[in-house]
Amino acid sequence: MAQAAGGLTPNQAQVTGHLRQANAPLTAYQVLGRMQAERGAVAPPTVYRALKGLQDAGLIRRIETLRAWAPAATVSPGVVVICDDCGTVRSMQAPDVLESLHLCLAAEGFAKARQTIEVHGRCGGCAADQT
Ligand SMILES: [Zn+2]
Repeated sequence: MAQAAGGLTPNQAQVTGHLRQANAPLTAYQVLGRMQAERGAVAPPTVYRALKGLQDAGLIRRIETLRAWAPAATVSPGVVVICDDCGTVRSMQAPDVLESLHLCLAAEGFAKARQTIEVHGRCGGCAADQT
């Protein structure tokens, strides 16, 4: 499928739109459902290809523990914090944690480590609602 340099395919643009509108990460199945609601029949591989292309371009990020996707603007490198009550996802900078982890890995001789740290819990807003 042709793709303009630096541009998105129509499918990628639509998938990105759904992920941006959602206030929590969406699974591929949820993205498929929203696209089908909008356009009628959409085959699952269409959604998977669009997600893969967007991930390769660094525009979206997979939240491994949720098996869901979020726009990369919402989730930047660092520690991903996920509220199990309201579903919001944000990233938190924790340079000391990552540095400490990489020092331990280097001491083990573990090379080219890529880490994904995802923390589940309750965000400040939801914790405040709890009485
Ligand atoms: Zn919350």
